[in-house]
Amino acid sequence: NMSLEEHDPVMADLIEKEKTRQWSCLELIASENFTSRAVMECLGSALTNKYAEGLPHARYYGGNEIVDQIEDLCRNRALEAYRLDPKEWGVNVQPYSGSPANFAVYTGLLRPHDRIMGLDLPSGGHLTHGFYTYSKAENTRKAVSATSVYFESLPYRVNPETGLIDFDELRKLAALFKPAMIVCGGSAYPRDWDYTQFRAIADENGALLLCDMAHISGLVLTQEANNPFDYCDVVTTTCHKSMRGPRAGMIFFKKDSRNFEPRINNAVFPALQGGPHEHQIAGIATQLKECMSPVFKTYIQQVKTNAAACAARLVEHGYTLCTGGTENHLLLWDLRPQGLTGSKMEKICDAVHITLNKNAVQGDRSAVSPGGVRIGAPALTTRGMGAADFQAIADFLHRAAQIALKIQETSGKQLKQFVEALANNADIKALGDEVTAF
Ligand code: PLP
Repeated sequence: NMSLEEHDPVMADLIEKEKTRQWSCLELIASENFTSRAVMECLGSALTNKYAEGLPHARYYGGNEIVDQIEDLCRNRALEAYRLDPKEWGVNVQPYSGSPANFAVYTGLLRPHDRIMGLDLPSGGHLTHGFYTYSKAENTRKAVSATSVYFESLPYRVNPETGLIDFDELRKLAALFKPAMIVCGGSAYPRDWDYTQFRAIADENGALLLCDMAHISGLVLTQEANNPFDYCDVVTTTCHKSMRGPRAGMIFFKKDSRNFEPRINNAVFPALQGGPHEHQIAGIATQLKECMSPVFKTYIQQVKTNAAACAARLVEHGYTLCTGGTENHLLLWDLRPQGLTGSKMEKICDAVHITLNKNAVQGDRSAVSPGGVRIGAPALTTRGMGAADFQAIADFLHRAAQIALKIQETSGKQLKQFVEALANNADIKALGDEVTAF
């Protein structure tokens, strides 16, 4: 019964190094967060030992009387947290993560080769919403995600001028393509979603409407974003982004004559998955308890304030943001006016310990060599940073861009020191310690 340190010092050392990396960098990846000690305790608990195929009170293995209580608690809290009436909505909390959750919805509610329309990857959508690459040489398109292998997908896009969802184009394309399902939600969209428009277009074509709220589920939960549940038939999410829980997924579905409940439950298991990860499910449940507290609402409001502060400062420095700013937790910085690529900026930021990711921006043709970067506020807000810190971060990003452009006001070495001083700031560390597992 050895500790990890005693049993496998190599692995213990690698984990320690990763913890140090996470703590000493400025973590701006919009899909990441620092989860709590309570969630970590669930993830490292005896629940990982248990097989529990099936649903609570209808399992294929014995010994599930406690696990049933855990999964029931999670399902009840999930419905309560999103203010859903259990007579109208059900939830499956077993998807291992966001991608399996989406594929389970397609598997349960569509037939192979049915048509799906989701936001294109270069426009800020997610791979699982259907995506192709185009081979010029072969003059063909190639399916990249299983969604476009097993279903027919025609993506819609943002308007190349405004960066906003192009509803006119979506309406026209949908009338021609007649999708069985429209997917709203994305991974890199800095504005809120107009679900009324999506619902109207879905209804015009007899399509189901799925919202993948993975990025904004913390904002939806705290009523700091529009509510997809008022308009959509199905809502999926991950739990580890703005919700700040464990890596896991959930599927919410309408309970009505369309019989979504057995179709989705059977798609998750036995169609796609085996035994549910009850340690993750316990982690979701305990995170949902935090999500329903006033502290979490304050946190999400601060996330939005911080993203807005960073955006405003970058604009002051003369930079271009997609859609001109943000109304959620992330911003998309269009570096093309400076003649920079997202890859170059990501590399320079990495070298000075600012972690962010290159990202396609409106009008980019490819996600492989994109013209911008994505910046998110959830992780550093968890660490206790406020608007002034995010203004300082925008100043660092400005200096990083100057380094990339060889306007050497600051050396890379100096900038790294500034970044580390902010990341290791004792007050911020103390605040971060209150909520995270470090
Ligand atoms: N949906 C959206 C909108 C996402 O941004 C992501 C992940 O980034 C996913 C789904 C997939 O989640 P996972 O990486 O947990 O499979």
